[in-house]
Amino acid sequence: MNMNLNTDILIIGGGPAGLQAALTIGRVHRNAVLLDDGRYRNAPVAHMHNVLGQDGTPPADFRKQGREELAAYPTVQVLDARAEVLAGDVTTGFVAALTDGREVHARRVILATGVRDELPDVPGLADLWGDRAAQCPFCHAHEFSGTRSGILGATRAEHYVALLRPVAGELLILPLPGEEGLPAPTGTPQAAAPVARLTEVPDGVEVTFTDGGTARVAVVFTAARFHQSAPFAEQLGLALNESGCIRINIFGRTSQEGVFAAGDLAHHPELPMPMPSVINALAAGQTAASAAIASLL
Ligand SMILES: Cc1cc2nc3c(=O)[nH]c(=O)nc-3n(C[C@H](O)[C@H](O)[C@H](O)COP(=O)(O)OP(=O)(O)OC[C@H]3O[C@@H](n4cnc5c(N)ncnc54)[C@H](O)[C@@H]3O)c2cc1C
Repeated sequence: MNMNLNTDILIIGGGPAGLQAALTIGRVHRNAVLLDDGRYRNAPVAHMHNVLGQDGTPPADFRKQGREELAAYPTVQVLDARAEVLAGDVTTGFVAALTDGREVHARRVILATGVRDELPDVPGLADLWGDRAAQCPFCHAHEFSGTRSGILGATRAEHYVALLRPVAGELLILPLPGEEGLPAPTGTPQAAAPVARLTEVPDGVEVTFTDGGTARVAVVFTAARFHQSAPFAEQLGLALNESGCIRINIFGRTSQEGVFAAGDLAHHPELPMPMPSVINALAAGQTAASAAIASLL
């Protein structure tokens, strides 16, 4: 039996960008297949913030509600499946090979596969990520208002200090190895020795320094590096921005006709990096879906 699927628009990714793209396509009764292999960037987060109407909602509840809403649109099919290889072009059509052996054939593709975060190489940081360690003050700072907040990494500390000063009670810059001696922004305390290890304790994070000293903070902010979480930009030879994210125009079009991208994995070249947030991913998903539909008309 042939288990392959044919559709107008293939969406790869079931985070906010992909789910919203599917909703937009379903609203005008176009066919779409959405693939989701269940690896969401905000998976370790208990509550998402800065999302109007959903401030504090657990991300998993948000995705579940999105899928339930999509069930009302019969032209949209959501599959828990992983795409491995994506090939083709707008003339011949696109083919995604799934790890379960099936293929999805589509006239257009929306990539919404997100990014994965490469964290500074500090033992213990990954265990805290999304809970007592995060990148984004807009998402994560308010819950730690008035506490002592750590900024891991002296090189980009100035930006964090400026953003966090009105929220945090106290700031402490925690240099990474190799950053010792870098000047701190005026008036902000900075540890003399680099961080050796971070450990969760009941009321926060214990920081151990390479000289054996320790300090306590409630939360740690640090900048991660983004990487494409899927190989499709490379497989299709899409143009990238310096950030490593896919280059798109304001309609979510990539450098290859018929291929669109939305969410954390892509941004307009005027931006230095994506503006990674649930709201921006939703908006980008809607834009890319509208553009993909327009290209079919
Ligand atoms: C620690 C942390 C906290 C955050 N907190 C907030 C917050 O409070 N508020 C906020 O607005 N934003 C927050 N963000 C940012 C937010 O999580 C992202 O901006 C948002 O999830 C981006 O959505 P997306 O759809 O682009 O990608 P994602 O949500 O990462 O979804 C990517 C999708 O692609 C799928 N996928 C990838 N590869 C494949 C493949 N080969 N085959 C099939 N499917 C595939 C994945 O399974 C997933 O479904 C946070 C991020 C982090 C790291």
